[in-house]
Amino acid sequence: MLIEFEDVTKRYEGGTAALDGLTLRVEAGEALAVLGPSGSGKSTLLNLVAGLDRPTSGTVTVDGVRVDRLGEAASAQYRRRRIGMVFQFFNLLDDLTVLDNVLMPAQLAGTHRAKALRRANELLEHLGVAKHAKAFPGRLSGGERQRVAVARALMNRPPLLLADEPTGALDTASGEEVRKLLTELNRDGQTLLLVTHDLALAEACATRTIYLVDGRLAGSGVPA
Ligand code: ADP
Ligand code: ADP
Repeated sequence: MLIEFEDVTKRYEGGTAALDGLTLRVEAGEALAVLGPSGSGKSTLLNLVAGLDRPTSGTVTVDGVRVDRLGEAASAQYRRRRIGMVFQFFNLLDDLTVLDNVLMPAQLAGTHRAKALRRANELLEHLGVAKHAKAFPGRLSGGERQRVAVARALMNRPPLLLADEPTGALDTASGEEVRKLLTELNRDGQTLLLVTHDLALAEACATRTIYLVDGRLAGSGVPA
């Protein structure tokens, strides 16, 4: 079991429950797409998995770690070691080259430089953006930048890749590129948790889809 939510409720101050008694299990190797209307709790779910926020009650376990119990330093270390994150708006650093962006997580983890370089170049090659290694992100297309963001997220070989609207800011062609890439990654065994409005992404990539409404599981199934 890679992700386990046990009766998780998250209540923000003054608000109703963003997640309301959610129980959810995700196995290693799954690609789970989380769908649902705006305000249904999707981002909250992602933040709890990433340890960026804590549940009001219930337990969150990821790769054997009780994420809901981590202190700040342990939480940051947990993310560095076990979680790769890709967001809607590219969070690449514009004043670093593509290669240096991808190397960043390895530097933070203290990986030996030569080993990190080997891994970074392999990833850039595998994701089809090796020719841009020395370029700055501003020179790349949206799809290429998102590929670089995925390479960076995979740098430390995280057991879990989280993606929050990874195609949300992309044009049709770039979105298609990213859908293919995520599908291939999952075929190679990468576990994915995708929060998305993009039904085409869920259909192309997900092995399972869940629907959230008002912080509760309103349905689940195999896409299409
Ligand atoms: P989604 O990602 O599906 O749009 P969210 O998880 O962002 O949903 O939000 C779920 C609910 O929790 C919404 O009602 C939202 O307004 C509320 N919410 C989210 N974040 C906060 C916050 N930091 N403070 C107060 N309420 C929040
Ligand atoms: P929002 O959903 O509020 O627009 P983001 O999804 O961009 O914000 O980021 C949410 C939080 O995750 C931020 O506090 C950010 O600092 C943090 N964050 C961004 N990238 C990473 C990462 N690779 N690993 C861990 N935390 C990250």
